[in-house]
Amino acid sequence: MNIEEFIREIPDFPKEGILFKDITPILHNPETYNYVIDKMVEYYSDFEIDYVAAIEARGFLFGPQIAMRLNKGFIPIRKPGKLPAEVISAEYELEYGTNTIEIHKDAVKPGDKILLIDDLLATGGTTRAAINLIEKLEGEVVGIGFLLELLALEGRAELKGYDIYSLISD
Ligand code: AMP
Repeated sequence: MNIEEFIREIPDFPKEGILFKDITPILHNPETYNYVIDKMVEYYSDFEIDYVAAIEARGFLFGPQIAMRLNKGFIPIRKPGKLPAEVISAEYELEYGTNTIEIHKDAVKPGDKILLIDDLLATGGTTRAAINLIEKLEGEVVGIGFLLELLALEGRAELKGYDIYSLISD
């Protein structure tokens, strides 16, 4: 299946100069949505994993489905102020300003093997912050999976030493 056809490019969104990769057409078509989840589950079927974690918001469109198929629990990593119990936070740089993400402190136990999922790898800053949260709780990131990797932004350089899987590279 040619998934690229189901990724729509929107110029200058959310601001000028950004070519936004819109994955909503994948979700719109059940065969494509299933195919994408199947491929990712296939890649991770041999991995030793305790939990699947994903980053709000678009990571939530794929992470929980992968967790269910692998029969693992799901850990949400969210924007500030959304998780109700005790959290730890990580701040990271954006092109302009900073962003913060949070995880429940009791979501990861020392030694837990975590698969981290997001929709898209750009500079790697978001993923790096999510890894920092998991590792602060002494979890082990055993894999990082994306639907789409933007090669020109060299996010992999930020994530050296981790197993990175992307279904599509652009
Ligand atoms: P980064 O931290 O630079 O790797 O950015 C990754 C996060 O920003 C992901 O959660 C993406 O959903 C989002 N993102 C970054 N660049 C784009 C883009 N060109 N199109 C769509 N989403 C993007």
